[in-house]
Amino acid sequence: MQDQVALITGAGQGIGRGIAVAFAREGARVIVEDLRDDEDSQRTLELVREAGSDGCVLAGDVARVADIQRVVEDGVRQMGRIDILVNNAGIERFAPFLDVTEEDYEQVMDVNLKGAFFASQAVARHLRDTGRRGRIINISSVHEDLPFPNFASYCASKGGMKMLMRNLAVELGPLGITVNNVAPGAIRTPINAELTENPALVRKLLENIPLARLGTPSDVAGAAVYLASADADYVTGSTVYVDGGLLWDYSETRRSAP
Ligand code: NAP
Repeated sequence: MQDQVALITGAGQGIGRGIAVAFAREGARVIVEDLRDDEDSQRTLELVREAGSDGCVLAGDVARVADIQRVVEDGVRQMGRIDILVNNAGIERFAPFLDVTEEDYEQVMDVNLKGAFFASQAVARHLRDTGRRGRIINISSVHEDLPFPNFASYCASKGGMKMLMRNLAVELGPLGITVNNVAPGAIRTPINAELTENPALVRKLLENIPLARLGTPSDVAGAAVYLASADADYVTGSTVYVDGGLLWDYSETRRSAP
């Protein structure tokens, strides 16, 4: 990934940070995008530098189209180009379907789906205008396929991301832009700390994971590195599952409110 520039949204912690470091090890320069330019995003940039590469931090709310467009413009201005977009920023909101509020629904859909939609548009326009090939990688979830009771808006956003990916693979293929999803299972990050820090819940969850462990951000990053690499030149419109086998061995225990 030498000479490549990657924009990774939500890279201040968790999976996004893991991908930033893995890309840096492969030689890519990294635009660390997150809601705030704070200690967390600066720490990711520090790790990118320790991995032997460089980059910058750009703050923005992916739920706001104007923010995304500004981040892409500033990223191109500071780094000279963008070759790879990783739509990683994502949130989830617990609520039984009957209680979901309009506000929660909009937050989840706007960050997870609208954010990926317009970030992809902004980067694809940049690639078209500069006549270069590129990669779009969405961090979706096993819940692009698998129901998750009490997280209907999250599932709708990730299912939407699956169809967005397939549609863009067809529409952007002629421009030499590949579009793929990485679908993580249960990965230990701050997003699900309430679950992963609860030994009883983890034990129960591990019964549904054939590989019998939670995943790590670097497990997910490995798949993203592959999809960004020349080895994946002919791969587009696909989802790579990084879930220890969970998808095909899962039964939902009705979780109560955290
Ligand atoms: P995380 O630890 O919560 O990290 C998400 C990052 O995104 C945070 O740095 C967060 O910033 C940032 N972010 C949130 N809203 C944003 C916005 N509007 N604009 C820009 N950045 C924003 O979550 P994660 O576990 O690494 O998850 C990353 C992705 O993987 C998500 O799309 C998630 O749905 C997906 N995923 C995770 C798992 C898992 O088990 N962890 C499983 C399947 C899929 P703040 O901290 O400042 O809010």
